[in-house]
Amino acid sequence: MTDNSDVMYRLLVQGVVDYAIYMLSPEGVVSNWNAGAQRAKGYSAEEIVGRHFSCFYTPEEQARNRPSHGLETARREGRFEAEGERVRKDGTLFWAHVIIDAIHDDDGKLLGFAKITRDLTERRAQELSLLQAKSLAESYSAEMASLSTFLDSVITNIPSSVLVQDAVSRHILLVNLQAERLFGNTREQMIGRQLHECLPKALSSFLTTLTDQCLRAEGLHHSETQLHTALGLRTLRSKTLTIRGKDSRSSYVLLIAEDVTDENAAHARIRHMAHHDSLTSLPNRALFRQHLEDALQQGAAAGKLTAALCLDLDNFKNVNDALGHEFGDKLLRAIATRLREVLRTKDTLARLGGDEFAVVLPDLKRAQDAQLTAQRLIDTIEPAFIIDGHSLSVGLSVGIALAPQDQSSPEELLRCADMALYEAKRNGRHRYEYFHPHMDEVAQKRRTIETDLRQAIVDKQLHLHYQPIIDKRESRIIGYEALIRWQHPEHGMIMPLDFIAIAEETGLIHELGALALHDACHEATTWPDGQSVAVNLSPVQFKNSGLLAQVQVALAESGLDPTRLELEITESVLLDNTQANIDTLQRLKALGVRIALDDFGTGYSSLSYLRSFAFDKIKIDKSFVHDMGESLEAIAIIRAITGMGRSLQIEVTAEGVESDEQFMRLKEEGCSHFQGYFFGRPQPAEQRVR
Ligand SMILES: [Mg+2]
Repeated sequence: MTDNSDVMYRLLVQGVVDYAIYMLSPEGVVSNWNAGAQRAKGYSAEEIVGRHFSCFYTPEEQARNRPSHGLETARREGRFEAEGERVRKDGTLFWAHVIIDAIHDDDGKLLGFAKITRDLTERRAQELSLLQAKSLAESYSAEMASLSTFLDSVITNIPSSVLVQDAVSRHILLVNLQAERLFGNTREQMIGRQLHECLPKALSSFLTTLTDQCLRAEGLHHSETQLHTALGLRTLRSKTLTIRGKDSRSSYVLLIAEDVTDENAAHARIRHMAHHDSLTSLPNRALFRQHLEDALQQGAAAGKLTAALCLDLDNFKNVNDALGHEFGDKLLRAIATRLREVLRTKDTLARLGGDEFAVVLPDLKRAQDAQLTAQRLIDTIEPAFIIDGHSLSVGLSVGIALAPQDQSSPEELLRCADMALYEAKRNGRHRYEYFHPHMDEVAQKRRTIETDLRQAIVDKQLHLHYQPIIDKRESRIIGYEALIRWQHPEHGMIMPLDFIAIAEETGLIHELGALALHDACHEATTWPDGQSVAVNLSPVQFKNSGLLAQVQVALAESGLDPTRLELEITESVLLDNTQANIDTLQRLKALGVRIALDDFGTGYSSLSYLRSFAFDKIKIDKSFVHDMGESLEAIAIIRAITGMGRSLQIEVTAEGVESDEQFMRLKEEGCSHFQGYFFGRPQPAEQRVR
């Protein structure tokens, strides 16, 4: 190369602006600089010539010896080529393509390096965005593909049946798995065919109707129908919709059918449960009330009578207590079945709870019809129930109230029937009673007595009076019977007959009983030794498991010798829940107290009672003593009782002795003890006959 051409070449190089072209010494020091280099890197020739070229590298690259690596490679291999980030004078980065060529003289001695750098920042940015677009496009298409697969799988597997038809040709285009099951046909048998070609007639005509409806009118169509399908009789809740295709000529009918048979059944069960008694499946109180209200409205409109009947089982609680709830439940179901059988279809029998049932008799012509039904209900319960080998008899009491004459609102009518039921039970059970307005007055009076009685216990208005009991041999007082009296602040003295029944019904008897035991035992400790005190126990007290403890506490607190306490019970204690009550009697007797059978002769008076428990005493009811002057039967009964007393070695007390004549006669008949006005009336403790 001539000097001239050398100059030209240098000028050419210096004029190139697209490429940074410069020379490095063998050590890497910049020795010249062209216009392209100034443009690319920002340095002027004066600023950079004489500086080491590593200043074009980032500190990280410098730390990794990248500049010397480039020079070494070029020195060793003649050329180094790379792409990477480089630093401009102002510190900004650019993407550079770099070639470093080693330059030797004719003898092969290294003169330095020619370095050509091209700024690729723009091109690289374009490349990068292309790459991003490509990868975006790829991932999007993968997403679309997977979305499509996903949708296919959703349609195939959703529990609803899906069917798509072409709107014009009516060919089936899509069927999912559930539709295959429901229609009992495979996809292959259905796709490309019309409904009537591949489905049973009932199904295909149902689906065709839906399709027709859908095509006639835009929008979503709903229907719910019961159909015979391959899965049996099912209720289908279906939606149909027309879908337009991409071009205006194609449209499709989409049908989605949900099998709601189980759901409907569950709802029906819930509705049934909310309105029926789970034990007997009879309507419950809520449904009963609704039926009663409907019957009253319709009856009023048609001028017919409506009857409400309240039913209560006699003796059911004892069965339940003695044989257990499971047994009681079986009995209730059997009773419900019998009761239902004697009613008309339009009558409602409901179980209101426990052993309480009620009946609505709508549409009656005469009041007598209600009475006939009540009697049928009582009669159907009459024959014994055989359950688990036990033969059981329960009775039925029925209260009847009629609309419109008694009341016309459901609540009031039911309340009237309930009062009539109470009357039926009071009058001896196993019978029916009609409501009568006087029952309302009686009920009101009972409520007043109950309220007053609660107050009386708090205010200590209840006191014991003591009536002497005489011994035959010595004609002296051997003890007293404690009799409760209520000193009412307004009504004066109230006798037990007027409040004990209410105390028994309300449970207040347990408090009254405890009070009597406590007071009587305390009082008796102040009497001469040998005098006993007799306290009456109500059969209801035997239902309280705390009775034994009450007696123990009364004895312990007073310090009374147990042999001086006599407990008087009536036959009904032995009538109800016999074995449990006999057990209680035995435990009481084991405390050392004496047990007397009171009012004997008035109730069932079964002689077997006297064998079932070793009574210490029998008390002949005062009605026999009263009648003995005129009635041979009364004498015969007294004689039978004293005879039995003698043979069983049980003392016999005659109650209600009012004259010396009666006293003499009863002594002759063999009574051992006597009680009555002849010897003394019941008196408060301090005024008692001594
Ligand atoms: Mg008595």
